[in-house]
Amino acid sequence: MTTSFYPPQRTLMGPGPSDVNPRVSQAMARPTIGHLDPMFVAMMDEMKELLQQAFQTGNQLTIPVSAPGSAGMETCFVNLVEPGDTVIVCQNGVFGGRMKENVERCGGTAVMVQDEWGRAVDANKLEDALQAHPEAKVVAFVQAETSTGASSDVKTLVELAHRYDCLTIVDAVTSLGGTELRVDAWGVDAIYSGTQKCLSCVPGLSPVSFNDRAIAAIKGRKSPVQSWFLDLNLVMGYWGQGAKRAYHHTAPVNTLYALHESLVILHNEGLENSWARHRLHHNALKAGLEAMGLTFVVPEAERLPQLNAVTIPDGVDDAAVRGALLNDYNLEIGAGLGPMAGKVWRIGLMGYAARKDNVLKCLAALDEVLG
Ligand code: PLP
Repeated sequence: MTTSFYPPQRTLMGPGPSDVNPRVSQAMARPTIGHLDPMFVAMMDEMKELLQQAFQTGNQLTIPVSAPGSAGMETCFVNLVEPGDTVIVCQNGVFGGRMKENVERCGGTAVMVQDEWGRAVDANKLEDALQAHPEAKVVAFVQAETSTGASSDVKTLVELAHRYDCLTIVDAVTSLGGTELRVDAWGVDAIYSGTQKCLSCVPGLSPVSFNDRAIAAIKGRKSPVQSWFLDLNLVMGYWGQGAKRAYHHTAPVNTLYALHESLVILHNEGLENSWARHRLHHNALKAGLEAMGLTFVVPEAERLPQLNAVTIPDGVDDAAVRGALLNDYNLEIGAGLGPMAGKVWRIGLMGYAARKDNVLKCLAALDEVLG
């Protein structure tokens, strides 16, 4: 006989998904209603406002794309990049590489600005690339590189891109809700995030936001957006204001209840309090990890509080340690990605997971396993 699937209760301290707030899981189990039901539409309007607060923006086009963070990334690129466009991509980890793939699949040319993995994006190198490529239309980079734990200076990079008349696409998958992010004050043109990191929601949605400059670029396209599903001109027909809503795709109703609940939780905590909470627990985790002799990959000034990458000590078996933590302590930490595989562990403190008992559990378990 086939039986139901009952996953174990893990503590998720990897690079995501992070621990889901139990209130979010409960919200998700509420009755499914029609995605054009007036009650649902009212909830969507409220969710847009809550997302605007989380992104610190007044952008009308602030919505969750019905698919994971990679789809938010793709939404930005397919709408803003046309065949023949030049896009400067600053890469300091895995996800910059994914941006390059997106540019090329849109028929654009990606000019890569390579930074050391584990360091922030270097504004001087970006400026050199902007000077060398006056034809560039867009600058793209990742605020919070989940593969290394490095945080880049969005305000400076966006200011620079604007000086050379470029639009900006910013990846905020791991930063939203966990670390300072001010879309309007910093002038970001297009931004995307994910629900499974510092929002403590389930995976599967990607909040995005576009300012008027980005919308003008989309409206002024010479060619149609090649993706039907992600074409914002069409998506807006569903996410537009109240009565004008028209069917576009069947919204993931219960997942949207989950996101609404996580945004209510964030709103009630206060965005800046959430940023401070991530910093507080990062400092505690850092003190414990350093007391065990572990060293951080990223220099302190460029470090994300929510993603702690530490070097695996010589002679320690990466997979055996992570396996023991998972099997004996129900604790997940992350492996290294790409060139960092086997060299680092990535310990996440994201959203609901950024709390005292998780820090203590992680330090105690790691100390026992490392002997
Ligand atoms: N960008 C960054 C910085 C990420 O960390 C991730 C996922 O970990 C993504 C994009 C892709 O998001 P998803 O896995 O939800 O598609």
